[in-house]
Amino acid sequence: MPQFDVIVIGCGAVGSAALLHLARAGQRVLGIDRFQPPHRFGSTHGETRITRAAIGEGVDYTPLAQRSHAIWRELERETGAHLFEQCGCLFIPARDGGEVHGVTSAQFFANIENAARLHGVNGEAISSEQLRADYPCFATAPGDRGFLDREGGYLLVEECVRAELAVAARLGATLLTGRRVTAFQRTGGALTVTMDDGATASATTLIVTTGPWITELIAPLQRRVTVTRQVLYWFEVQSHPERFGPNTPVYIWDVSGRGRAASDIYGFPWLGSPDNGVKIANEVLTGETDPDHVAREVSADEIAATYETYVRPFVPDLGPTCLRSEVCLYTNAPGGRFVIDRDPGDANVIYASPCSGHGFKHSPAVGEALAAMALGETPRVDLSGFTLDRLAVL
Ligand SMILES: Cc1cc2nc3c(=O)[nH]c(=O)nc-3n(C[C@H](O)[C@H](O)[C@H](O)COP(=O)(O)OP(=O)(O)OC[C@H]3O[C@@H](n4cnc5c(N)ncnc54)[C@H](O)[C@@H]3O)c2cc1C
Repeated sequence: MPQFDVIVIGCGAVGSAALLHLARAGQRVLGIDRFQPPHRFGSTHGETRITRAAIGEGVDYTPLAQRSHAIWRELERETGAHLFEQCGCLFIPARDGGEVHGVTSAQFFANIENAARLHGVNGEAISSEQLRADYPCFATAPGDRGFLDREGGYLLVEECVRAELAVAARLGATLLTGRRVTAFQRTGGALTVTMDDGATASATTLIVTTGPWITELIAPLQRRVTVTRQVLYWFEVQSHPERFGPNTPVYIWDVSGRGRAASDIYGFPWLGSPDNGVKIANEVLTGETDPDHVAREVSADEIAATYETYVRPFVPDLGPTCLRSEVCLYTNAPGGRFVIDRDPGDANVIYASPCSGHGFKHSPAVGEALAAMALGETPRVDLSGFTLDRLAVL
């Protein structure tokens, strides 16, 4: 049976980052994935992900984001790939109520301002007048305000995973794809994983980063996380394509309570050409599902309802024709938090579920921290706020 120092189960956003950092540390490391990452079946696809540094989910996330930005830049230099476009990120809170990733909209805004102050993030508050003058693509009203995080922008999600896996392989990591891990067990001093074709491999430490499938292998997370179906849409640009050009910021706008909207919307500039449409989505979390049975098709009725409720009233330059859509999965923990811990039954089993709809931007720093945990080192970024116990007190 092949022996490794560490086996990483699931090589999506977080697993590919862990694999890379373990390979950099000279570990004999095996990554196993049931598909061929990057792929369309988990949480890590659909062209782009927002990144920001002044983090509204909590100031403890900012060091993860800033470290991740440095790692993306290092990876760009190393591979020559374009991964990170730092076009800024604009946040506009709800006028009343609202919630983004488990945090009230008002608290999210306060956290952004605090994080910017505490961690010296380059950003500025945007007045109502400035919003209307500088961002005419948004149908904001007097009284709306914003915060522009100049360190934010977007990441090319599939390219990022591809680059991490390529460098990990170059540094000696072994990657087995198209294999599903069905179980693992301790056998003496080692942990042995069994795959769906009956093959086995063993290692001193396991890292489980199976995204929306996490509860299949990590029992303590059962009933603690829920998986929801989230749809990404690319709507046609009907007028003023210059308002969505490559240098315009990505945005999160909590429109809940306006008309029939029940969540924030977020979106991106057009990529390549306005003819490709612009990507926009909402964050309604009602479509609870599981990754093996989720409906992957998006109906015409669903598109029309999304356009009428979440697009036309707020971004009126976008027309009703949907050029493309993708179904993706959130793995939601209470309070929109991440869960990163060691298995209570075996400290050499480390798992990470950093999703709740905002995990991609932090994935390189989380992967680096998981690698440090596997090596028995103290992670460079403090993860103590993300243990299972911390989740229990929320
Ligand atoms: C629509 C959408 C929009 C998002 N927007 C943002 C954003 O703008 N900014 C942001 O920061 N984050 C965002 N996120 C969240 C972010 O994308 C996720 O937090 C992140 O991709 C999660 O990565 P992961 O590694 O945990 O899961 P995944 O990338 O899904 O990886 C899990 C991997 O495990 C493999 N696997 C599962 N079970 C097994 C098994 N038994 N054996 C072997 N392999 C297995 C799967 O094939 C998969 O490759 C968004 C998510 C979605 C769905």
